[in-house]
Amino acid sequence: MILSKVVLITGASRGIGRALALDLGRAGYCVGVNYRSRRAEAESVVAELRNGGAEADHFPADVSDPLQAKDLVDGVVRKWGKIDGLINNAGVTRDRSIGKMSLEEWRDVIDTNLSGPFYCLQSASHHMRRQKSGFIINIASILGVHGAVGCANYVAAKAGLIGLTKAAARELGRYNICVNAVLPGFHPTEMSEKIPPEQNARVLAQHSLGRSTDIKDLSRFVMNLTDLSTVSGQVFNVDSRIL
Ligand code: NAP
Repeated sequence: MILSKVVLITGASRGIGRALALDLGRAGYCVGVNYRSRRAEAESVVAELRNGGAEADHFPADVSDPLQAKDLVDGVVRKWGKIDGLINNAGVTRDRSIGKMSLEEWRDVIDTNLSGPFYCLQSASHHMRRQKSGFIINIASILGVHGAVGCANYVAAKAGLIGLTKAAARELGRYNICVNAVLPGFHPTEMSEKIPPEQNARVLAQHSLGRSTDIKDLSRFVMNLTDLSTVSGQVFNVDSRIL
């Protein structure tokens, strides 16, 4: 039996990661569903994938912990014998003004949104280098380009993730590994639920089309990107806000 391409998606128990997992599964990918705390939600994503005929399993791990991140990637390779793609999607927010931000809030967001992707990328690229192929997609944010008030930790982490994307693309290109960043647009998830309604309205007003990205558009974009073998080191904004 020829195994389909294997992709690991971090933070795939809900929100954007869940949507990507389901669509990549439907497209024939074998999907590793990572989560940190909500096992039941991750199990339901896996069940939905399997019901649709996809190969899938869930992998608990806190990506901000270097050992857990390595075990996560190694676990996927142990289960399916390879890893073709990594989507670094797991993320958190701990919004606070700079003056009031605690060190714990700073570190939590940097550890999860920047160090976590580095740990996963480091381990995944180790396997991909041997395979001489692979793709890594980092889910960043337009805030990492534009900046924003009240979330310096998140902005710095996402800006760092864009830098990591470019550095890794340069370094891993000779092993035929594509590394790109996607700025996914604004989606109604638990993360964005925390944003006050007046700020939501301001964000919406920045879209030149007057509407935010459909999650299906994002999924289609990511799916196409997984298939492009000559594109690396790029930052793609998937909405109508102008960079
Ligand atoms: P979400 O609904 O809050 O989901 C976050 C996911 O990340 C969950 O599956 C959660 O798993 C997982 N997670 C959090 N910390 C983790 C850790 N340390 N280790 C492993 N998994 C962890 O978020 P979302 O809105 O879908 O966002 C997904 C990504 O898109 C994030 O990187 C975010 O920054 C980015 N983004 C989102 C928006 C938006 O509008 N929503 C806009 C721009 C960028 P558990 O629940 O099991 O802990």
